[in-house]
Amino acid sequence: MADCIFCSIASGEVETTLVGESETAVAFRDQSPAAPVHVLVVPREHHESVAQMAVVDGQGVADLFALVGEVADGEGIAGTGYRVLTNTGADAGQEVAHVHLHVVGGQPLGALLSGSRG
Ligand code: AMP
Ligand code: ZN
Repeated sequence: MADCIFCSIASGEVETTLVGESETAVAFRDQSPAAPVHVLVVPREHHESVAQMAVVDGQGVADLFALVGEVADGEGIAGTGYRVLTNTGADAGQEVAHVHLHVVGGQPLGALLSGSRG
């Protein structure tokens, strides 16, 4: 899709250091890390939400999670634990309209939502 930064990264048009990749997805560090480890796992194909993607490409969604596991191993957080989240839409604050799973870890992550009772 034109003017999509994650399409450009996935295609290699914008050079980015990958920390993992598969046939269908790429993984790279978030430019504004929220934790010691903060990696984005991104399908090579453009989809706006993971739920929409699941309807048309269930295997692609499974591939994303397989790459999450490889990233967690590679980053040394598979044993200590980590969180996977994906923002969808305005209330979630989605900034980039191309599916991405945030993989965060490397420290205790606290409550799921800021301000929640955990
Ligand atoms: P969101 O859409 O709210 O789930 O967040 C998008 C995330 O992508 C933010 O955490 C940004 O820091 C990150 N981000 C945006 N552009 C880039 C980029 N070129 N390289 C790495 N991370 C990026
Ligand atoms: Zn895109």
